[in-house]
Amino acid sequence: MARSYNFSAGPAMLPAAVIERAQQEMLEWGESGMSVMEMSHRGKDYMSIAQSAEQNLRDVMSIPENYKVLFLQGGASSQFAMVPMNLLRGKSGADYLNTGMWSKKAIAEAKRFCDVNVAADTSEGGFCAVPTQDSLKLNADAAYLHYTPNETIGGVEFDYVPETGGVPLVADMSSTILSRPMDVSKYGVIYAGAQKNIGPAGLTIAIVREDLIGSAMDSTPVMFNYETHANNGSMYNTPPTYSWYMAGLVFEWIKEQGGLAAMGEINQRKAGKIYNLIDGSDFYGNPVDKNGRSWMNVPFTLADAELDGAFLAGAAERGLVTLKGHRSVGGMRASIYNAMPEEGVDTLVEFMKEFEKENA
Ligand SMILES: *Cc1c(COP(=O)(O)O)cnc(C)c1O
Repeated sequence: MARSYNFSAGPAMLPAAVIERAQQEMLEWGESGMSVMEMSHRGKDYMSIAQSAEQNLRDVMSIPENYKVLFLQGGASSQFAMVPMNLLRGKSGADYLNTGMWSKKAIAEAKRFCDVNVAADTSEGGFCAVPTQDSLKLNADAAYLHYTPNETIGGVEFDYVPETGGVPLVADMSSTILSRPMDVSKYGVIYAGAQKNIGPAGLTIAIVREDLIGSAMDSTPVMFNYETHANNGSMYNTPPTYSWYMAGLVFEWIKEQGGLAAMGEINQRKAGKIYNLIDGSDFYGNPVDKNGRSWMNVPFTLADAELDGAFLAGAAERGLVTLKGHRSVGGMRASIYNAMPEEGVDTLVEFMKEFEKENA
């Protein structure tokens, strides 16, 4: 058996130790006589799994008491609608930062519900920069400010948390949650699809400040109302039980690695190795401003796009897979979430050097 270094943007790699643990517990979890997949979500075994997963996430992210952690379905894409449905609270508009493909989708969905004030827009420069705090045209009466701290496709990541002057800050953290320490108390809502840096697909996590729960629009479907899930421990209906369990194993794994401080150090070093190589070469390029470069998704191009096929084939021979860039950007993209071992990055960097030597 050989596990590849999988640079997919999502679903992405999971830590091998987590998959092995799941394998050991596959047929029978504890002394329950069954697999986690076969358990009632309301039984005491599953309840203990669910609660310890939540507790471990709270510990790892230092989530304050006045925040609910919701274990949902529907992906980050459903949050694009749930956020306005729950957070408008009678207001007519919200602020959005447009910094890439995912921001754009969030904005398009929000427009169904409210006036969207695009408080910053980097589309003209091809989404290669992070807008500065000073340039944000914020509306003091906005219901909230929504932004995408890490644009998974463009590889653009904020190096600061926007100041909103009391307006709730909402962050689509799908591709950067758990990548480093962060101050949850600065946010009204944090949400993330699990399949990048949390666990298997099918689970979406929303961390919601309690005072923002309970004022959803009258027309909000019960499943789209944060209050429904907050009041029922995310068990109003059947939750994605197995993905929730797997996420819990990932949270434990992060604790064992030294928590988010350790993750942040490793992630910065991993990304730095690839950017250093790119910056020291005329053969590879990355268009993103240096202060906006993502630690999680590193897009890069070859000087001659005709060589892309040969690059991908050579990489695959070394077990480096799923490096093809997003169809909208072209080139390559190395997604290097928490579960990508540093050796995977080292192997990629070695291959990039070799390929340049042979083809430049
Ligand atoms: C992947 C991704 C999404 C979409 O997530 P789904 O769970 O597939 O809906 C949204 N936002 C960002 C930043 C992403 O990386």
